[in-house]
Amino acid sequence: MPGQLLDGNLLSRKIRAEIAARAAIVTAKGVRPGLAVIVLGDNPASQVYVRNKVKACEDVGFHSVLERYSAELGEEELLARIATLNADPSIHGILVQLPLPAHIASERVLEAIAPQKDVDGFHIANAGALMVGHPEFKPCTPYGCMKMLESIEYPVRGARAVIVGASNIVGKPMAMLLLQAGATVTICNSKTRDLAHHTKDADILVVATGKPKMISGDMIKNGAVVIDVGINRLPDGKLCGDVDFDTAKYIAGWITPVPGGVGPMTITMLLMNTLEAAEKAVKP
Ligand code: NDP
Repeated sequence: MPGQLLDGNLLSRKIRAEIAARAAIVTAKGVRPGLAVIVLGDNPASQVYVRNKVKACEDVGFHSVLERYSAELGEEELLARIATLNADPSIHGILVQLPLPAHIASERVLEAIAPQKDVDGFHIANAGALMVGHPEFKPCTPYGCMKMLESIEYPVRGARAVIVGASNIVGKPMAMLLLQAGATVTICNSKTRDLAHHTKDADILVVATGKPKMISGDMIKNGAVVIDVGINRLPDGKLCGDVDFDTAKYIAGWITPVPGGVGPMTITMLLMNTLEAAEKAVKP
């Protein structure tokens, strides 16, 4: 029998309704949550992501600003824009859509965002704070994955969690959040020997590699929760995850679809972080 679907759209709708209600409360107190999104160049995937983020803001009653620049924008000009937004009291969250063009040092740009407005949670100060257990903002994708586990009341404490992928924006912060929730965590990367040995041991398996369908059903433990972060476009134009959904769904106890799993949750947690930044700005 196929596992149960962890539906990110459904859960997002619930959480976004709560966000909209809280946004109305802070707005009535004179602080309308505001998110600024900066995108450089015309990468079609980035354009879709930023449009979705801005639309999501509008739907929950936030103020949003979308700043589009050519791929040739200089690093100093971009940093100057960020400095202006850092000082703008109507903006509570600033997001720079990645990837940035090669002539721009992404780390320099991410670290120019004021940590109090770093709603993506990528600033080195937030990464460090996450490591010691009290981040200003949790990175949106791992935060969304934790919310999914919470939604099914999964007993994370004491569970074996395996994360395939060790990036700074997904794999590593995911490991920290699971560890802090009491899981025993293994992080795998492209050099891991006998990957299936690790994945088959996982009660919670999170996959974020960018390698289409690389985790098949025979690499999964019976009844595991499988969270597929990957978003890959196949030559036929369809989207798929890093997990082979068609074989994995018969083995997993719970599984996220792609699309409609982690993707919408990432945007939802971006809204949550922005809301919380605005709530902190309300004068008592
Ligand atoms: P990165 O390319 O930054 O990192 C990929 C990680 O996967 C690396 O740690 C790499 O190992 C590891 N890896 C690659 N191949 C293998 C392999 N064969 N076996 C084990 N590990 C492997 O990717 P991101 O973390 O940025 O993104 C991963 C995926 O998640 C992408 O598909 C991306 O589009 C998607 N994504 C989805 C989001 C959402 O909202 N749903 C948000 C962010 C990303 P090594 O360290 O050795 O190189």
